[in-house]
Amino acid sequence: MRCPFCSHDDTKVIDSRLVAEGGQVRRRRECTSCGERFTSYETAELLMPRIIKHNGNREPFDEEKMRAGLLRALEKRPVSIEKIEAVVSQIEHSLQATGEREVKSMVVGELVMDQLKKLDHVAYVRFASVYRDFKDLNEFREEIDRLAEEPEPEISD
Ligand SMILES: [Zn+2]
Repeated sequence: MRCPFCSHDDTKVIDSRLVAEGGQVRRRRECTSCGERFTSYETAELLMPRIIKHNGNREPFDEEKMRAGLLRALEKRPVSIEKIEAVVSQIEHSLQATGEREVKSMVVGELVMDQLKKLDHVAYVRFASVYRDFKDLNEFREEIDRLAEEPEPEISD
């Protein structure tokens, strides 16, 4: 880390401890050039990446919009709101875990489809048909056939 006094590039850590209940590391540093001491704090950041739309525009991730899409696909399906919320959290976690500052909207769509496929096949097909914008009926039928080979997820509640 650069010295804030003389801008020298090399400083050494002379003490390091966890603070804020382990959520932060406090470091005492000493400049190897001017000998001044200063403190730095380090926190792990889980940033939600920005979304790159098809047209190249960037926009903040919109949790409400994603939830609305899920609810639309799951309309009148036997899936509890708790499960839907768990899926929302799971998708957000996956996005944060990419560590990317920007991801394509396609990535979000694929994550949603992965989760829906595990949750409810009807909802998955509804979502995929809108999202993937199937070119023709054959493409749609192929996807349905693929699904038919997978076991329907168990409804446990
Ligand atoms: Zn210095």
